[in-house]
Amino acid sequence: MIISPKLALTWLKEGNEAYMISEKNHLGDISKEKRLHTHRHGQNPYAVIVTCSDSRVIPESIFMAGIGDLFVIRLAGNVVADFGMGSIEYAVDHLNCKLIVVMGHTMCGAIHSAIADSHSNFISSIIKEIQSAIGEETDNTKAAKLNVFNTIEKIKSSEIIQENTKNGLKIVGAMYHTHSGFVEFYK
Ligand SMILES: [Zn+2]
Repeated sequence: MIISPKLALTWLKEGNEAYMISEKNHLGDISKEKRLHTHRHGQNPYAVIVTCSDSRVIPESIFMAGIGDLFVIRLAGNVVADFGMGSIEYAVDHLNCKLIVVMGHTMCGAIHSAIADSHSNFISSIIKEIQSAIGEETDNTKAAKLNVFNTIEKIKSSEIIQENTKNGLKIVGAMYHTHSGFVEFYK
């Protein structure tokens, strides 16, 4: 079943509204029935979510999603390198996902490190990538937004993504606000 990007975006926004006033994730279907259905018939996620590994940013809860709903790629600072790109291409090309959301967040430690230019060996490649995206910007949230759009440009550089864009694939930037739980979708 192909789910239009418009419908997928509506589901994400509705899920996020429910999340903001919820104590527990009671809307995402994680039932035995859903588990068995997706086991037998495969997955049909309605959106790819590219976001940060930050433990405060939990896509399935933020969008009240359950089994088989979201195809999630998470790396600190929501950067995408080859493995991430491959994962996105798989979701788009093999699972017919028509919506990609690149979601940064406020108070992001990776963005903070990029601004402060402080990093250890393992994260230096992430920090360099973010620094190239944010330039001289020192406001964390503004820098996070620039970083989201840099990741979108990276995703758009894929030929598979370009082909699928001709067939209705949409890529949307977003910001998760860690204080309110609100997901701001960029136009
Ligand atoms: Zn982060």
